[in-house]
Amino acid sequence: IIEIERLKKSFGDNLVLKDISMNVNKGEVVTIIGASGSGKSTFLRCINLLETPTDGKIMYQGENVLAPGYNLPKYRTHLGMVFQSFNLFNNMNVLQNCMSGQVTVLGRKEEEAKKIAIENLEKVGMDRFIDAKPAQLSGGQKQRVAIARALSMDPEVMLFDEPTSALDPEMVGDVLRIMKKLAESGLTMVIVTHEMAFAKEVSDRVIFMDQGVIAEEGSPEDIFGNPKEARTKEFLHRVL
Ligand code: ATP
Ligand code: MG
Repeated sequence: IIEIERLKKSFGDNLVLKDISMNVNKGEVVTIIGASGSGKSTFLRCINLLETPTDGKIMYQGENVLAPGYNLPKYRTHLGMVFQSFNLFNNMNVLQNCMSGQVTVLGRKEEEAKKIAIENLEKVGMDRFIDAKPAQLSGGQKQRVAIARALSMDPEVMLFDEPTSALDPEMVGDVLRIMKKLAESGLTMVIVTHEMAFAKEVSDRVIFMDQGVIAEEGSPEDIFGNPKEARTKEFLHRVL
């Protein structure tokens, strides 16, 4: 669905992404692993254009989304994003969080938006909390609502940036189980994670990023079982 060609991103004279090319295929689960500062978040943020790439192409359904005149707001609606820090609207309750984008961005009627929101809240086990405000929820619950909110927009691709790294250990499993279910349902997902066991289990493909490049990519069996690059081996040795 998405083809990234020779993507570069710099902040001032700090070149953070150095010539990254990769594809995301429909139904595929791609996980991105790598050391802190290797550019994983920046890469995800470039994919959905929260950051503007300095150079390169991002093709969506065969069209370059960076070309002048391309409908970027429309493109963004095809990508759901889940952040480490939840980013819920704190002044809205759970249901409103899952409805507002549907109404304001997709133009859905309230009634339809509500139905879709509740379906997705059921998927993540948060339908009993529709009236709660984010402040009343645990981190794990907030993250489940954030996932339901993103799913309610019917994204083609879901991007996750370390969705469990701000959670207490006992909440991590709940969120990973939901993500695993989504992966099995055929949703296209790109996931930045430090959860290596999870990455091994759900990924169709694993990308190891190092200092702004894709140092190695392959099946989970290859990357975790038989890494070729010295820096992949060294990284896995440190984290496993
Ligand atoms: P982590 O595992 O800690 O989340 P990461 O792989 O996601 O790390 P990034 O957040 O993408 O790494 O950061 C890569 C580099 O880009 C870092 O050196 C960071 O300082 C720099 N960087 C990221 N965002 C910005 C920004 N908005 N302005 C300037 N520099 C930035
Ligand atoms: Mg990051």
